[in-house]
Amino acid sequence: MSVVGIVPAAGRGERLGSDVPKAFVACAGRPLIEWSLDVLRAVCDRVVVAVPPGMSYPDSVEGGPVRSDSVRRALAAAPEATVAVVHDAARPFITRELVQRCIDVLGDGYDGAIAATPVVDTVKQVDEGQRVVRTLERSSLWAIQTPQVFMADVLRRALDVEESTLAAATDDASLVEAIGGSVRVVEAPPRNFKVTGPADLERAAQALRAS
Ligand code: C5P
Repeated sequence: MSVVGIVPAAGRGERLGSDVPKAFVACAGRPLIEWSLDVLRAVCDRVVVAVPPGMSYPDSVEGGPVRSDSVRRALAAAPEATVAVVHDAARPFITRELVQRCIDVLGDGYDGAIAATPVVDTVKQVDEGQRVVRTLERSSLWAIQTPQVFMADVLRRALDVEESTLAAATDDASLVEAIGGSVRVVEAPPRNFKVTGPADLERAAQALRAS
């Protein structure tokens, strides 16, 4: 088994309002991505990072115009991978235990295992005018995060689609589901949040300094 970490880090991170791409912005004294890389390098045989065009970084590829294209390019650079651990650089609180629990689920015969938390708020579908259309049944809803761990061959097939399909995908598991793959959620610790805006970056920095 060859476990390869795949880190899409090629986004510009416009919502953060920084000149530096989000994955490389300083967070608690080091680039945000490095918090995740510490964990991934401890549990994976190799980690490939998709970086913005023009940036040099160890074991990296140039990312694509959309996130799943960046994942596809990084995975293509690791033909030896039998298990792919896809993780967004924007989630610095990944743990070795969480990755290992996802890998263990693949041993139960699933094609994918994805970090998630049960939804605690009531969720409603609304139309363009913000009028409520319906209320969803909360007990079966989970908010999906990364890491997302897959049998690498299944993920390769799932990513072998038109660029427009990749652009519409908000995570990799949805592409695996679309080709009939079986995916299970793995409950993540509450603090596995994604750094999106400046307030998230400050919150992450405080928590990382305290840990
Ligand atoms: O924008 P968002 O936070 O959803 O991006 C999730 C991850 O995907 C980030 O780590 C970002 O750097 C990465 N990404 C990428 N290539 C893109 C767009 C986003 O690798 N074209």
